[in-house]
Amino acid sequence: MSKDKNIPFPVEADDITEYRPKYKERARIAIWVGHSDEDEGAESPRTHLSEFDYNSPVAKALAEHLKAQGIAVDVYRRDKWGQFNAMLAETNQRHEDWGYDLGISLHLNCYNTRASGTEVLFWHRSNNGRQLATQLLGPITELFDLPTRGIKPLKKYERAWFIVGKTKPVWCIIEGAFIDNPKDEMRLRMEQDNYDEAIVEGIIEYLRMKGKNI
Ligand SMILES: [Zn+2]
Repeated sequence: MSKDKNIPFPVEADDITEYRPKYKERARIAIWVGHSDEDEGAESPRTHLSEFDYNSPVAKALAEHLKAQGIAVDVYRRDKWGQFNAMLAETNQRHEDWGYDLGISLHLNCYNTRASGTEVLFWHRSNNGRQLATQLLGPITELFDLPTRGIKPLKKYERAWFIVGKTKPVWCIIEGAFIDNPKDEMRLRMEQDNYDEAIVEGIIEYLRMKGKNI
């Protein structure tokens, strides 16, 4: 697990907000694009649209949208398989140095081509995680207009538990819809340009609940 720890984490320079000690951002957020350029995650069996390809432009739009509101954003995208530990270490270090208000991972589900809908996952012991997941689920479910699968607490060894269990800031995994389901894929494609807006809505609502003046 630690063999990749010396690989420098390949974030694009533009995607990382420089820390400015005298400038107080209204909030600071980390975004992980699930999977990597090499391992693209689940994909549509029809069009081969992958999680990574779908979520990469969404993350960019999301970052621009949040930055326009005075929120600092770091987008983490991996170009190779196996850089997960380096990304995790970098994220937790930045959290220690500057403090992220929250982090999200953008993923898409995949099961049996019939399962459908939106869900948001969080660490079972995190009350803030539960609140963030709740705020994210509403606008995203409304956007895609697919069944809601609810917010789901993850315990150790369940699914991708380590994402929400090993990140130090409060963290959620957003599973927007099922990329292998034809209807879900259609909805994902139709709303791709609006997806960032729905996520921003959930984030802002959460930050306000936490007393941020946004
Ligand atoms: Zn995924």
